[in-house]
Amino acid sequence: MLVKKFGGSSVADPERVMHVAQTITEAYNDGHDVVVVVSAQGDTTDHLIEAAHIINPNPSKREMDVLLATGEQQSMALLAMAIESLGFPVISLAGWQAGIQTNSNHSAAHIRRINTERIHNELAKKNIVIVAGFQGVNRYDDITTLGRGGSDTSAVAIAAAMHADLCQIYTDVDGIYTADPRKVRGAQKLDRITYDEMLELASLGAQVLHNRSVEMAKKYNVRLDVLSSLVDLPGTKVREAVKVEKWLIKGVTSDNDVARISVCNVPDRPGIAFKIFSILGAQKINVDIILQSIGRENTKDISFTVAREMKDRAVEVLQDNLDVMDGVYFLCDDNIAKVSIVGAGMQTNHGVAARMFEALSEENINIQMISTSEIKISVLIKKSDSERAVQAIHDAFIS
Ligand code: ASP
Ligand code: MG
Repeated sequence: MLVKKFGGSSVADPERVMHVAQTITEAYNDGHDVVVVVSAQGDTTDHLIEAAHIINPNPSKREMDVLLATGEQQSMALLAMAIESLGFPVISLAGWQAGIQTNSNHSAAHIRRINTERIHNELAKKNIVIVAGFQGVNRYDDITTLGRGGSDTSAVAIAAAMHADLCQIYTDVDGIYTADPRKVRGAQKLDRITYDEMLELASLGAQVLHNRSVEMAKKYNVRLDVLSSLVDLPGTKVREAVKVEKWLIKGVTSDNDVARISVCNVPDRPGIAFKIFSILGAQKINVDIILQSIGRENTKDISFTVAREMKDRAVEVLQDNLDVMDGVYFLCDDNIAKVSIVGAGMQTNHGVAARMFEALSEENINIQMISTSEIKISVLIKKSDSERAVQAIHDAFIS
């Protein structure tokens, strides 16, 4: 059994829809049970959001979900019609018909379970099954959506629930690259990548797969392939472990939408870090890299990074709630970029960090902050250095 997911660009116009229909029917002819998950065509979701905001700048999330779910419903029906026209048995199912049950968190719902009976029945009747991605139904029978890019998660969830042999994510790139091929010379397509590496890359902004879909694939051990809907090439396989490592690292990324906040001159005593980060946590402000340094006369400075759009809000809530204000002041900088490398290979190889820092020093790029995890190293640098940094680090590791 194959689950094939086609993103919005893969079904953007009638020619592409027909092309996708061909791909699907070939797999069916090869004897596979085929379940297809589709996104809304092209920019449909964006257009629906714009249309809503013209009428009501503040629509309820429930009604927004009702509206946005229509995008996927259009594409599932059009794709089913394309497959009909090729003479194959096919049926399209909306999320609720396919048994996709979610919680009630409209616009960012999580899948709770999938009642697979209907899909199984349709496959038993030898139908190709097309399921609308991105949508489900809560326990009050209201339509929900899973958040932007959520069709990937629909596909992986269905693959897990159906115990599919493979989940194929078709998109407009032909796989996962070591860096953004539009920006970095020599970026290479990866044959294989682990779930953990893919998760890090997805959260660092490689926009190929929805974060949650990778989490779910790892949890349920769903074999995942990312491949092009336009050209017939192998793509990238996302799997648990990768045996032969071609490169020490799997990707270099940069995120220019970060800001650094320093809380300076706070008293150097237990509980201060706890206080700062619980205030931010209570406001659901996500903190990334944290650095504490010794200040003067029993004080310390605590610096951290947040998404750039959260900068003002973060300073505001700290000013309002941090009751140790004597002499405390804030410094903010959003003229920065976070450049990261990801690779499971760094767990078992030494000198990876040194090689990254060497590449930066040769370019005379100053590092402001460093953070590491088992399979990731991030540095904070000046924004204007970020392109040069990514290229230099990429050159140092990938060749
Ligand atoms: N159509 C939805 C979006 O644009 C879901 C998806 O494409 O995965 O976010
Ligand atoms: Mg997508």
